[in-house]
Amino acid sequence: MFNLVLFGPPGSGKGTQATNLIEKYKLVHLSTGDLLRNEIANKTPLGLEAKKIMDEGQLVPDEVVIGIIDNCLEKNALAQGFLFDGFPRTLNQAKALDKLLELKKTQIDLVLALQVNEEELVRRLLERGKTSGRSDDTSEEVIRKRFQVYSNDTEPVAQHYKEADKFKAIPGEGSIDDIFARLSAAIDDYKSEQ
Ligand code: ADP
Repeated sequence: MFNLVLFGPPGSGKGTQATNLIEKYKLVHLSTGDLLRNEIANKTPLGLEAKKIMDEGQLVPDEVVIGIIDNCLEKNALAQGFLFDGFPRTLNQAKALDKLLELKKTQIDLVLALQVNEEELVRRLLERGKTSGRSDDTSEEVIRKRFQVYSNDTEPVAQHYKEADKFKAIPGEGSIDDIFARLSAAIDDYKSEQ
């Protein structure tokens, strides 16, 4: 198995790169943002609860997203590997993920962190908000709130994986193809060392 975390702030290009990476490396894509938006679209009780939180730029409670991920791991028991996108987003989620994977006799192999400066991130998110229909991308105030949540709650996750020697920073500016080549090179390097 090969399990990858694609890490980085809102707007850093995780979703875009994930689409290409899952095809190249035959991974199952687990995006908690997409899974939550799916619940909202289906008007489930969980979706109704999550929508208000997401529209404010806050994080959905850990137990909710951990439950969603646990379900998806069960449903894809035969997968060759997973690409986690937008998860784990808190230290608590990272520790829960370690435990879930341990139960399955596997682990996170690599965490690739896309690095993009904040002004570029705001520009990308406002641009995406024009067409994505995502209400959390249209207000600069909500976008700034998400960065604040990222630096308070999500950045400590990087330290967790640095301590485990699994973390690698990848420059996330430039063309989509160039960034994809950098991510692929990091994965191929890792695999060739195994
Ligand atoms: P972005 O990375 O652009 O913020 P996502 O689609 O990953 O977009 O997430 C959108 C929103 O969904 C987040 O702001 C948050 O409210 C919620 N969310 C997604 N993943 C998680 C998670 N792992 N833990 C808590 N909330 C989450």
